[in-house]
Amino acid sequence: MTAINFVDVNDNDAIFEGSGWDAVIVVTPSLDAIAFDEISLLASHGANIDARIGRSATLLFAPGLAGGRLIISPLLNPQDDIQDVRAYADAARKGLAIAKEAGAIKPLLVVAPHSAEKYQQSLAVSALACGQELWQALERREALGLKPQMQAIGLLVSDQQAQVLNAIETGRHLARDLCGTEPERMSAPMFAQYCQQAFADSGLAIEVVEDRDVLERDYPLLSAVGRSSFAVPRHQPRVVKLEYCGEGEIERSYFFAGKGVVYDTGGADIKVAGGMAGMSRDKGGAAAVAGLMKTLSLLKPKGIRVVAELGLVRNSIGSEAFVTDEIITSHAGVRVRIGNTDAEGRLVLADLLSHLRLKAADAVNAQLFSVATLTGHVVRAYGGYTAVVENAVARDQQVGERLQAVGEAWGEPLELSRLRREDYQKIVDPSAAADIISSNNAPSSVTARGHQYPAAFLLQASGLQQHGLSSAKPLAYSHVDIAGSATEGDPLYGKPTATPLVALFNHLCQ
Ligand SMILES: [Zn+2]
Repeated sequence: MTAINFVDVNDNDAIFEGSGWDAVIVVTPSLDAIAFDEISLLASHGANIDARIGRSATLLFAPGLAGGRLIISPLLNPQDDIQDVRAYADAARKGLAIAKEAGAIKPLLVVAPHSAEKYQQSLAVSALACGQELWQALERREALGLKPQMQAIGLLVSDQQAQVLNAIETGRHLARDLCGTEPERMSAPMFAQYCQQAFADSGLAIEVVEDRDVLERDYPLLSAVGRSSFAVPRHQPRVVKLEYCGEGEIERSYFFAGKGVVYDTGGADIKVAGGMAGMSRDKGGAAAVAGLMKTLSLLKPKGIRVVAELGLVRNSIGSEAFVTDEIITSHAGVRVRIGNTDAEGRLVLADLLSHLRLKAADAVNAQLFSVATLTGHVVRAYGGYTAVVENAVARDQQVGERLQAVGEAWGEPLELSRLRREDYQKIVDPSAAADIISSNNAPSSVTARGHQYPAAFLLQASGLQQHGLSSAKPLAYSHVDIAGSATEGDPLYGKPTATPLVALFNHLCQ
């Protein structure tokens, strides 16, 4: 099953009966903002007998319109300063849900604009919200042989706009599948295989590292996390490498490390008191990066090169499990004391980043990113929002600020956190036996600066610290913590969001 299919509709008559569409969903800041006379007339007549019309999403019997169904879904308080473009997403989802319940399978989505600058992407955000609403869990699709819930969604956009939205949604669909699936169906080898299938004939280069000797040599920290999983062949780690190279002269290069902890028991520092449930979603970073690569492979933007490494590993527990206190030398040659085996994501990322660092060193205008469901602290600090923590080079280039602006416009808002000198104090190994320690030995959610200081660790353990502002080769690096934003709704089993795919894609293609 592919993602939903957005179809460009160039003809305003598509709102009428006989056009082939079976419902008209209007997402609008107010009844006055609807540009179609036939629709606003029906809506204002309807509002005379039903006060809900214009206040909440409602279905009107609409003879003469496509499918005889008109769904008006208004924005809630669009004029409020605190409101953002997600008001459109909310309204689109409510409207679509009603259309689905009513039996529509080919609705036409009409989005009435709002003059405020913050709503400039209202149409795209509304359309993508439909994709989020309609995604069904992979296990359920496979078990029941489910088909997509909608045949198509019509949009009053150009062919090119529809193409972009389809590509973004296809990437998000892949990301949700990879993130949201249970730990056997989406074990590390199965995750890698799912990627191989998704990227077959895509034009992207894909390589899967699975040999234990190679993994232990090239990804020693990642392999420590996966040490006890090697005993079970179907749980063994994988590293997936993806590379996209656009046509024409390369003007910018991007490097992504994705955390793909397919299951996190906590390891020897085992998660207790019910803390393990939902830990199959600890692969949202790798999933979002894979989805981003899928979108790129479909749209083939020119002049950019994008390299990704996904670290897929199960943090198992067993007689071979790595333990706290061990000292392990990272790929970059930094001797890392393990502070807590449940702080495994940063270990996985550090080796991936070290490989990317070597590639970035001779790349044109390189920017590096790590994307991970990394800390409970980010959830504590920001709730459902993504955090970006960047090094001085990235800050100098305003990478985080740009990402924040584009995320805000496209309905994936994020918070900028500042890396501070105290964050480096937290990774000093008290015994001095190791170069650094990976973490303190308490949950990040009760640790001050618990989502900021891991960026200090990532910079040191990956060797990126050597590429600061005053170095011969400064490298911009931004760490993106999506622990709060990778899923929505239920804290354990909510729907994956594919965040921050949309913000990153638009950042790359700006
Ligand atoms: Zn963990």
